[in-house]
Amino acid sequence: MSIELINDFHNSAVRLRVRGIPCELSAGQVRRAKRTLCGVGGCLCSGILGTRGIQWVDAGDDYRRIVTTDAMDRQGHECVRVEWQD
Ligand SMILES: [Zn+2]
Repeated sequence: MSIELINDFHNSAVRLRVRGIPCELSAGQVRRAKRTLCGVGGCLCSGILGTRGIQWVDAGDDYRRIVTTDAMDRQGHECVRVEWQD
């Protein structure tokens, strides 16, 4: 599946391919998302992923909210965990 993340400050969006939700975004995906969503050096609008605002994902039958949490992968690189919001 793919998910679209948004930044409602810069009015930007990025589409990422994931196996499903929950999942972890790779360090490369996090870098690409940040560069696409907020490429502005020194901007404080967002965290390492670059998202801002409510994130909605097409869950097939409905749109559902997701939450993203900064995390570390097994190699100790920054990654981001994506989960459905309850
Ligand atoms: Zn920004």
